[in-house]
Amino acid sequence: MVGIVLVSHSKQLAVGVQELAVQMVGDDVSLTVAAGIDDPDHPLGTDAMQVYQAIESVYSADGVVVLMDLGSALLSAEMALEFLSEEQRAKVHLCEAPFVEGAIAATISAASGNSITQVIAEAREALTAKATQLGIAVVTNNQQSQDTSPTAQIQLTVSNRLGLHARPAARFVTTAAKFQAQIQVRNITRNTNFVRADSINQVTTLGVRQGHEIVIAATGIDAEAALAELQGLVANNFGEDDSAIVPTEIDTGENSLAGELIGIPASSGVAIAPVFQYRPITVRVEEYIVEDTAIEWQRLQRAIQTATQDLQSLQTTQLGSEAEIFSAHLLVLQDPALLEPVHQRIFNHHQNAEFAWKSTIDELANNFYTLEDAYVQERANDITDVGQRVLRSLSGMTTSTIELTQPSILVATDLTPSDTAQLDTTKVLGICTTRGSATSHTAILARTLGIPAVVGVPAAILNLTNGTLLAIDGTSGKVWLDPDTNTVTTLQAKRHVILQAQQQAQVIAHQPAMTRDGKCMSIMANIGSVADVETAIKNGAEGVGLLRTEFLYLNRTSAPTEEEQLKVYQAIAQVLECRPFMIRTLDIGGDKPLPYVKLQPESNPFLGKRGIRFCLENQEIFKTQLRAILRASHGHQIKMMFPMIATVQEVQAAKAIFMEVQTELRQANIPFDATMQVGIMVEIPSAVAIADQLATEVDFFSIGTNDLTQYVMAADRTNSQVATLADALHPSVLRTIHQTVQAAHQAGIWVGLCGELAADPVATPILIGLGIDELSLNPQAIPMLKHVITELNVAEAEAIAQTALSLKSAQGVRTLVSARINP
Ligand code: PEP
Ligand code: MG
Repeated sequence: MVGIVLVSHSKQLAVGVQELAVQMVGDDVSLTVAAGIDDPDHPLGTDAMQVYQAIESVYSADGVVVLMDLGSALLSAEMALEFLSEEQRAKVHLCEAPFVEGAIAATISAASGNSITQVIAEAREALTAKATQLGIAVVTNNQQSQDTSPTAQIQLTVSNRLGLHARPAARFVTTAAKFQAQIQVRNITRNTNFVRADSINQVTTLGVRQGHEIVIAATGIDAEAALAELQGLVANNFGEDDSAIVPTEIDTGENSLAGELIGIPASSGVAIAPVFQYRPITVRVEEYIVEDTAIEWQRLQRAIQTATQDLQSLQTTQLGSEAEIFSAHLLVLQDPALLEPVHQRIFNHHQNAEFAWKSTIDELANNFYTLEDAYVQERANDITDVGQRVLRSLSGMTTSTIELTQPSILVATDLTPSDTAQLDTTKVLGICTTRGSATSHTAILARTLGIPAVVGVPAAILNLTNGTLLAIDGTSGKVWLDPDTNTVTTLQAKRHVILQAQQQAQVIAHQPAMTRDGKCMSIMANIGSVADVETAIKNGAEGVGLLRTEFLYLNRTSAPTEEEQLKVYQAIAQVLECRPFMIRTLDIGGDKPLPYVKLQPESNPFLGKRGIRFCLENQEIFKTQLRAILRASHGHQIKMMFPMIATVQEVQAAKAIFMEVQTELRQANIPFDATMQVGIMVEIPSAVAIADQLATEVDFFSIGTNDLTQYVMAADRTNSQVATLADALHPSVLRTIHQTVQAAHQAGIWVGLCGELAADPVATPILIGLGIDELSLNPQAIPMLKHVITELNVAEAEAIAQTALSLKSAQGVRTLVSARINP
C-alpha cells in the first residue's frame, strides 16, 4: 500500500488532518505525520530528520506520497529525500496538492489499493471538487498538458553553482510569468513530474542542482519566445556571476589541493589548453498535426536512411572494434519495437515525424533508465544518441561534429559515442567529463584515439568559462583550474617527456620487450574483431593474448554457426601468420543478454550466469564454438581459455565437453591441433584462493584484472560511483595477482595478465616484479609498454613489487612507483 506522510509546521494541525483522514477509511492505512519541532517554547517548525524517519516508517515498494503545508516544510521534505537511498528516493514523491484536501483524497485512494500515480493524481485533483462547488475554475497541470495548441519543449543542463535555488529560481519564475504561454518544467535527473514554471514553490520543489537536466515545455502563442528567453537565462547562468570557481565550493576530495580537482584517470597523458565547454545541441521539437501522413512517414524514412549511412561510415573509422558500438546503433534504427509506435503516431494520430519519433525514443529510453541496471541504462544512452541523430537529419542539420577553432580541452557532462568518434584529434588535446568511469564509452574511445582524459570530475568544472586555461593528467586523474606558471612548467616538462617516450616507443615497437638486465616479456594484444588484429601487428604485438569472442554473438538474431566462426578465427590466424593466438570462449550472460537465448532476469548480473556458467548450461552454443576453435587450430598456433572460472568442477566439466568435441572430430576425420594448450581466466577471488588446485587442471592462467578487481573490491566495474574503489592498483588486488603467480609457477605453468592493468605504465614494474610471464593489452598501448619495460631491471621491479604489496592504498602504490621510476 502507498504510504502517506503529512509534513506541517504544526503538530496539532497534522494530527488533526490525520484524524480526519483515518476517520474516512478506518485504520487500514499507512499514514503518519512529521510535524512541529522539539522545542516547548517554539513548537512550530519542521525538521528534515523527522520527515526522513516518517518516510522510512511508512516506506514500501509501492512508494510514499509526502504532503506539505508551506514554506520550510517543502525544504525539510526535500532535504529528507537526500537521506534516502537512491532506490527509495525514486519511489518517494513530494506532492504539491493542497494539504488538507490532498491528504484526505490521497488517503482514500491509497486505502483503496491504488498505485502511487493514481494516489498523486487524486491528491492533485482535490481542490477541483471544492472549487466547482464554489463556481471557481481550477486549471490543473493535467488540463494544461491537454491543451491542443502547439507544445514546444527544450532540454537543458543547469550549470550554475547553486542550481535552481533562491535567486536563480526567482529569475526563472519571473521570466516564465512574463509570457502568456503555459510553461511547465521538470527535473529529468530527479525524474520529477512537470510543475508550473511560474510558481516559485513548485520550481523549488524540483530540487534542481548543478549539472541536472531539465525539460521546459510551453504551450501557447508565445511559447517559442518564452523558451528562447528561458534558454538564454539558463545558458547565462541566470545572470549569476559564478563563472570563476571559488575554491572553497569545490568538492576537491581528500587528495586534492585548492585549484585542483580529482577525477578518474581514463586515458593517460598530459594536456594543457584552454577550456572548450561542450553542450550538446538537443534538437528542439514541436508537435503539429499533419494531413499527408504518407509524406510524413517518407520524411522519417529518409532521415533514418541518412542516419544509417552516417553510422555505416562511423563503423569504418580508426576506432577498430570499439566502432562496434555503431552496429548496435544501426540495429536500433531497424527495430520494429521502435518503428511501430512511431508509425502509429504518424498514421493514427497525425503527429509530425519529429514529434512522433522523439516521443517514442524518449519513452523507450525512460523505460530503460528506470530499470536501474547500469548496462541497460547504457543502452538508454545509445537510444537517445541514435534518436538525436535522426532528429538532426529530419531538421536538416547535416553534422554534429564538435567544431573547435583552436586546440582545446573539451569539457562536458558526458560524450556520446558519436561525439567521441568524430572528434578532431588535432584540436581536442584532452577530455574532461563529469560523468563516466574508466570503462565507459568515452574512456575507452579516448584511449583508442590516444587523447588524455579524466572522467568523473566534480561538476564545478562545468562553470569554467571558455578560454580559461586548464591542465589535466590522464594518468593520475588530476585537473588544474587556471594553473599557475610553476604548475604549467612542471606539466609541460612531463608532457614533453611523455611525448618523447611515445616517439621512442614507436621506434622500438617491433623489437622484443627486454628489460635492461635481459628479461624478455611476451607482449600480446587484446582484440575484439578481425579489424583489430591489423592494428595489433602494426603496434608491435607479438600475437593475440585475448580474443573476446562476444562480438560474434551480439547484435544478431541467432547464434553464429560453426562455419561462420571458423571463417573469423581462420581470418585472424592468417593475419597473425605463425604468431600465437589466444581465443577466449564466450563470456556472455545476464549483463549482456543474447536475444536468441532465454535468460532469467537477474538482479545482480555480474554475479549471475555469466561466462562459463552460461556455456555449461547452453551446451549447444558452447559445443559449436569449441568445434570451430578446434577446426581453426589445424595449422595455426591457437590456444584457448575459459572465462569466469570459480571452481575446479567447472574446469573439469568444460574440459569434458571439450574432449567430447575432440572425439567427435576425430571420428569424422576432421583435423585439429591435439596439443592445443587450454587454460583459464583467473578473475574471481575463489579461483585465486584455489589457484594451486586449478593449476593442476590446465596449461596456463590468464589473470583478468578488470573482473578480479570488481569482485575483490565489491565495486561494479560499470558503476561510476564506485569507480575510485575499483582500482586494480589497490594492494588487495596486487596480492591476489601475487598469489596466483606463485601457485602457477609452483605447478610449473605460465601465467599471463590481460586486464586493463597491463596497459597502465605504473603497474608495469609491479607486474614484472611479481613474475607475470605475458602481458596482453589494447593494441594502441603496446609501444609505450615496451618502452617502459626497456627502462626497467628485474631486481628493481621485484623490490618495487614487494613494497607495493605492503602498502595501504592504490594512491600509495602510484606514489611509490613514480618516486622510483619515471614512467
Ligand atoms: C578481465 O576481466 O580483466 C578481462 C580481460 O575480461 P573482460 O574485460 O572481457 O571481462
Ligand atoms: Mg573478465
